[in-house]
Amino acid sequence: MKIVKYPHPALRAKARPVTAIDADVQKAAAEMLELMYKTEGLGLAAPQVTLDYQMIVMNFVGEADRPDQEVVAINPVIIESRGGTVSDREGCLSFPGLYQNVRRAKTVVAQAYNLKGEKFEMTCHDLAARVWQHEIDHLQGTLFIDKMGTLGLSRSQRDLEKFVADFEKAKKKGDLPPDLEPKM
Ligand SMILES: [Zn+2]
Repeated sequence: MKIVKYPHPALRAKARPVTAIDADVQKAAAEMLELMYKTEGLGLAAPQVTLDYQMIVMNFVGEADRPDQEVVAINPVIIESRGGTVSDREGCLSFPGLYQNVRRAKTVVAQAYNLKGEKFEMTCHDLAARVWQHEIDHLQGTLFIDKMGTLGLSRSQRDLEKFVADFEKAKKKGDLPPDLEPKM
């Protein structure tokens, strides 16, 4: 399992809902958490590791020894946003080194299934709410660059060009994971 970087096409695919929480899904969740901690992220979405289904893993403080902050969310949705919006610094494991301000809802109520298949609901504020919104966006093929203002985007231009150049180079060398294959 490997985190793909922008502009890998897996990041733009729409993930399909999980219909059965089987051993593969359990194993993927464990591997995603491990990878998230190793890369010091607060969240990771399945499309970032080229899995085409709706699963995200998060730890709101980013610490493996704080399992109380750890969440695995399957088929997650935001059912309510409130408290207006706040702009704050945000990064993404698929854009290493790039940080810009992004405007997000201050408070969200999220609903999802855990690995036991139980439905749960969680109300989060500020950074945790931001992580939920960022990760759920990934499942729709939406990236944080789509949510930046024009200023943030223009400040990111050089980094984005570098990501594209690196991607093209890696593709030529043949070391990219395969693109998502359509499931018919
Ligand atoms: Zn991300």
